[in-house]
Order: sequence, then structure tokens, then C-alpha cells
Amino acid sequence: MSKVTKVIARQVFDSRGFPTIESEVFCGKISSKAICPSGASTGSFEAYEKRDNNKKYLGKSVFKAIYNVNKIISKKILNKDIHNQELIDSILIKLDGTKHKTKLGANSILSVSIAVKKLSAKIKNVPLYKNFYIKKNFNLPYPLMNIINGGVHANNGLRIQEFMIRPDKARTFSEAMSICFSIIQNLKKIIKDRKLSTAVGDEGGFAPMINNNEVALNLIVKSIKKSGFVNGKDVSICLDVAGNELYKKGKYSIHSKDYISIKKSINGYLKLIKKYKIKSIEDPFAENDWNAWSDFLKKSQDLQLVGDDLYVTNLQRLKKGFLNKSSNAILIKPNQIGTVTETLEVIKFAQKIGYQTIISHRSGDSEDTFISELAVGTNSNQIKTGSLCRSERVAKYNQLLRIEQQLLKKNNMAKLK
Ligand code: PEP
Ligand code: MG
Repeated sequence: MSKVTKVIARQVFDSRGFPTIESEVFCGKISSKAICPSGASTGSFEAYEKRDNNKKYLGKSVFKAIYNVNKIISKKILNKDIHNQELIDSILIKLDGTKHKTKLGANSILSVSIAVKKLSAKIKNVPLYKNFYIKKNFNLPYPLMNIINGGVHANNGLRIQEFMIRPDKARTFSEAMSICFSIIQNLKKIIKDRKLSTAVGDEGGFAPMINNNEVALNLIVKSIKKSGFVNGKDVSICLDVAGNELYKKGKYSIHSKDYISIKKSINGYLKLIKKYKIKSIEDPFAENDWNAWSDFLKKSQDLQLVGDDLYVTNLQRLKKGFLNKSSNAILIKPNQIGTVTETLEVIKFAQKIGYQTIISHRSGDSEDTFISELAVGTNSNQIKTGSLCRSERVAKYNQLLRIEQQLLKKNNMAKLK
């Protein structure tokens, strides 16, 4: 048995330059590290991110979470079998004992949980993606690349948070990357020609000073065409609205600054879907607006409707959404729930009920590429990890390219519904 011999944590920085926690787990001289990411448009039911809330680092330092790893967690998982992820995670969950991991902090717990998963693979001498429940016939996920940033990830006034492309006709992951590359480079030229800024937002997509959703969509349509692809066939446009951010007293300001009813908002979506051949929409409505979600799904059966803040990678909320017929896909963010075991439970349940599973980064992320391995190791058919820009985003795509090469298969893309 390979036992945990030491656990240490330290403060490092994420892609927004904010402090975050890195934990390192040891079996003798061998160790693995994991860095916890952090969201900006968060759901209120997410697991708790422990920060110090004192003046230093604008309240964002994580020294309390580090103390919890070094002084509390480390003692409890010492001598435990590194390959028994479920046991270690259950110890962490029990040790915290709260519904949203408020005592120890989900950031302290998750960084340890992921480091354990990584170290187990290292000691078994298998690639990390082979250390999940899928054991053969691995597929590569389709990238959902966020190429124009808005909402709280940019300061341009765009209502919708993420304008993404998905290269549906790609037969291999490298082909998917090459399609996205062309579209992004052409988009850059088009934005430049309009005398707009090509500076990027938190997830590496361009953040030009435009404040109208349709202007952004037209720029993308143009760049798809200029790259020689057909929108809606070769490539689809996908959105993350982050509806929580645009909600006030039963109304939404999705399509303009004006707050309008759910019915009018749905009609606005239906027009956009038709005009721009949109294939996927994430968080079109707020996290507690269950009926708005099911009304929308009834009217847009061909759409991939993705719950992010709605589900927060939480099994109870996913079950509620399933009964309510709220969506047909789920975004998976390990730090919304706090352990690898609970993340896998949610993915397995989602796959059982026929939901698409999309593994996702956070807007504050790092060089850690765990989610690339998770996507392949669970046969999730999509990954959302920003644009082909900013190293914390590109690192995840580069890791998938390495995995693709290891798998030595030509047609190994996951199936899209
Ligand atoms: C998202 O909303 O899907 C996202 C990745 O952003 P954040 O990490 O800010 O929640
Ligand atoms: Mg989202």
C-alpha cells in the first residue's frame, strides 16, 4: 500500500493575479500538486471558497485555507492509501461536516483531493486520464472556445458573458484546434479592421468595446465565413449568458440594458438561435428560475441547454433539474462541489440520464491541467476552457494534444448529440 506521508499547502497566484491555494501530497519522496481555480460569476449554491477577508491582498489571501490543510487535513489523511480516493474524500467531507464546506473551505479540500488523484496515477505509473472510471475507448472532447468575452469577465458592457465556437465537424482534436485557430486569427483581423481593441478578457477571448450581443455575433459569423467554414454545420456558435448576473425581480436584461419578462427573453433567444444558428446556451436564466428553464427547453428541443450556476456540480440540484426537465446538459466545475469523488458522482449520474457533460475551467485559473485529464477520463464530450490565448487556457488544450498523440487513434472525437 502506498500511504500518504505528508501534505503541505502554499499560497500561489491565479490568472487574475489573485491569491489561491496549491496543495502538495507526498508518498515518501514522490509528490503531486494541485491548484484550486476561482470563479467570478458564481452560483450562490457553490461550495465555499475560504478567503481571509483581511486588508492584505484585498481580502483575497488564502492563509486560513492553507492552515486548514497544513494543520487539520494533513493529520487526518496521513497513512491513508493514496489509491483509495473515495475514502480520503469521505474523510475530508466528514472533517468539514458542513453542507457547503464552509468550515475548512472547498478550496483547501479540493486542492488536496485533486493532488491525491494525481499522485495515485503517478505511483501506478499510468497517465492521469486512465485513473478515472473509463478504462478503454477514450475519446477527446470538443473544445467550446470562448472567443469574445463579456459580462463580468470583461469591462466592455456586453450583456452575454461568453461567445463561443465549437468545431462540430472536426474528426480529430488537432483538427478541432486548427479550425478554432483560423477563426480566432481571422476574428482578430476583423476586429482590428473595425479599429476596435484586440485586447482580451479573463478567459482569453477578445473584449472589444462593443455593447451589443448581435454585433459580437456578427463578428463571429464573419470570421467563420472568412476561415472557409459554414456556420451551423462545420462550426456552431455557443453562448454562456450567465443569467444570474442579468436578473432582477423576475426580469432579465439579456438582450439589452432593459429588463424584460421571461416570455420576452425566451422570444429574444429563439430569434438569436434562428438567425445565428446557435447550438448551445448555458445559464440562459438564473439559478432559481426553474420554470423559465423548463419553458425554454420545451420551445428549443434541438438546443444544448447547459446548467452551470443552476446545478453547481451538485447531485441534489441535478436531480431536481432532471425531474423538472430543466436542461439536457451540465457544466462540471470541480471547485463548485469540492472533491473529486463528488464530481465523478455528478458526471456519472448526468451520463446515466443522457445529459451532455461539459468539463469546465474557471475564469480565474492556473497552469493546472487536471480538467483536461478529467474530460478524457470520463468520456465527457466537451471541454470549456477559454480561448486559444493566455497560457492558463492554452495549457489545457496543449495537454489534450499530448493525450491525443498518446492515444494514437485517428477518429477519436467524442460523439456530439
Ligand atoms: C462560467 O460561468 O461558466 C465561467 C467559467 O465563469 P466563472 O468561472 O467566472 O464562473
Ligand atoms: Mg457559466
